[in-house]
Amino acid sequence: MIFDIIGFYDKDQNTIYLHYQNYQRKGETTIKREIIVGAEIDAYCTKCRLILNHVVVAMVGKRPQKVECLTCHSQHMYRASEPGSRGKAGSAAASSVSKQDKEMEKKKAKLKRLQEKEKELWKEIIAKKDLTMAKPYIMSDSYEIEDVINHSRFGMGIVTHLITPQKMEVLFEDGYRCMVCNFSQ
Ligand SMILES: [Zn+2]
Repeated sequence: MIFDIIGFYDKDQNTIYLHYQNYQRKGETTIKREIIVGAEIDAYCTKCRLILNHVVVAMVGKRPQKVECLTCHSQHMYRASEPGSRGKAGSAAASSVSKQDKEMEKKKAKLKRLQEKEKELWKEIIAKKDLTMAKPYIMSDSYEIEDVINHSRFGMGIVTHLITPQKMEVLFEDGYRCMVCNFSQ
């Protein structure tokens, strides 16, 4: 069979709903899904641990959210594929979560690359500096660009930018920090 047409009769609405599932042809794959509550659908059963026929119980937008297994009759969240497989994401909720996860991973990777870059830069600059000349960091002191400061917590740093008379940017091993200078009470 090239495709399945699954019909569903809604008594209250006196309407017959039809939907196509997995419309496939040789050499091309077109997946048409018009899924509605009450329609049959292939899904992963969390109890049977198999891809089995299910009936859609609840929808979120155009995606099935909750399904009932026609084998064990348990109701659970819709999953299109086995967990851990690289199939299409299941419910709308699951796909939006995985999308968020991906965004987070991307952001984390970007931050990590940036931190590594800053660390490399820090190493490069620090290697050329005479660390015996490093000034201890004291909030009330004034510093110049290129000064090496020794911070009790962040270690050696290089003053890279004087932002305001009382704020400076310092490159430490773990990245740039904004530090207070010329502070008077
Ligand atoms: Zn089942």
